[in-house]
Amino acid sequence: MFLGAPLEIVVASGKGGTGKSTVSSSLILYLYRKGYKIVAADADAEAPNLHLLFNVSSWDRVDEYSDAYIAEIDYSKCDMCGECVNVCPFDAIKIVDGKYFIDPTICEGCNTCSLACPRKAIRRRRVVRGRVMVGRTEYGFPIVSASIEPGRPNSGKLVTEVKNRAREIAGRESIVVLDAAAGIGCQVISAFTGASLAILVAEPTPAGLSNLIRVHEIAKHFNLPSALIINKADLDEDYAEKIIRYAEEENIDFLGKIPYDNTVPLSMTYMKPVTEFSPDSPASKALMKIFDVVEERIIRDFDRWRRAHKPSKPSIYRPILIKPGEII
Ligand code: SF4
Ligand code: SF4
Repeated sequence: MFLGAPLEIVVASGKGGTGKSTVSSSLILYLYRKGYKIVAADADAEAPNLHLLFNVSSWDRVDEYSDAYIAEIDYSKCDMCGECVNVCPFDAIKIVDGKYFIDPTICEGCNTCSLACPRKAIRRRRVVRGRVMVGRTEYGFPIVSASIEPGRPNSGKLVTEVKNRAREIAGRESIVVLDAAAGIGCQVISAFTGASLAILVAEPTPAGLSNLIRVHEIAKHFNLPSALIINKADLDEDYAEKIIRYAEEENIDFLGKIPYDNTVPLSMTYMKPVTEFSPDSPASKALMKIFDVVEERIIRDFDRWRRAHKPSKPSIYRPILIKPGEII
C-alpha cells in the first residue's frame, strides 16, 4: 500500500500554539481505531508532550545519547591569560570568583578554546545529550519520544533517532505519525527528512500565513507533498480564504477548517486528544470530517495523491525576510 515502507506523516506548523498536537494526537487515535498499525512519534525533543496526551506513565526502553561535548578548564594549568574568552564564539566563558569558568549550559563543545589555549588547560568531556524513549500508550499502540538535556545542542539529531526507532518498530504496512516541533529549526528539518508527506496546520492571521509559507518552503525543499488544515478558522474568515488561495497556488491539498472551540485548550489541560475528551464538540466533529478526507483521499491511494501534490522539483530554501510592519 505504501510502496514497501511505512507511511510517514509529519504534522507541522511554522509556529507554536496553532493546534498541531491537537491535530496529530486526534489523527493518531482516528487511524488506530480505523485498524491501521500506528506508531506515534514525538519529534519535539525540547518540549515533548505526546506521551502526556496518550497517558504514558513509564517507558519500556530508554536509550541515552552521550555524543555531545562540553569543555572544562584544568585550573592547575590555567594562567588566566584570557585567550579562551576571546575566541569562544558562544560567550560561554566568564569570570566567576576570580577564575575563568565555562558555563556548561552554553558551551557547544566546539573545541575552539581548547585549540587556542596556550597552556593546554582545556579538555572536552562527553556529556549526555538526551534520551530516546519507547513505550506503549493506554490505547495499545507504540510511542517513541525524546527529551534533550537542558542546554545541550543538536536536538535535531535526537529527532533523527526518534524517527529511526519509529521506523524499526513500524512494519512495512504501518503508519508513523510525527508531531513536529514548532518553527522551522533543526528538529523540523530532521522530522521532514525522508518523510512521506506533511500536514501543515495554520491559523488565519498574517503571522499564520507567514509561518505557513516558511514551513512549506522546508517541505518543498524536501520534495514533500503537503496538505493543509486551518485551525481556529472563524477567527478571520477572509484571512482563511487568503490562506486557501495560497494553498491552491502552491498545490497544497486543502483538507478543511476547524472552528475556534474552547474545548480544545480544555482538552490540553486535561491531557487528552480533543476527539476523545469531547467527541461532540465543534472542533472534534470538524477534525473527524478532515480525518475521513485524510483516509479516503491520501492514505487509501497514497501513490496517486503523492503524484498529484508532489512539488515539481525540490526547491532551495531561501529565508523570507519580512520588514517591520509588512503584512504578506
Ligand atoms: S586560554 Fe587556557 S590558560 Fe588562558 S585563561 Fe583560558 S584556560 Fe586559562
Ligand atoms: S568548547 Fe567552544 S563553546 Fe565551549 S567554551 Fe570552548 S569555545 Fe566556547
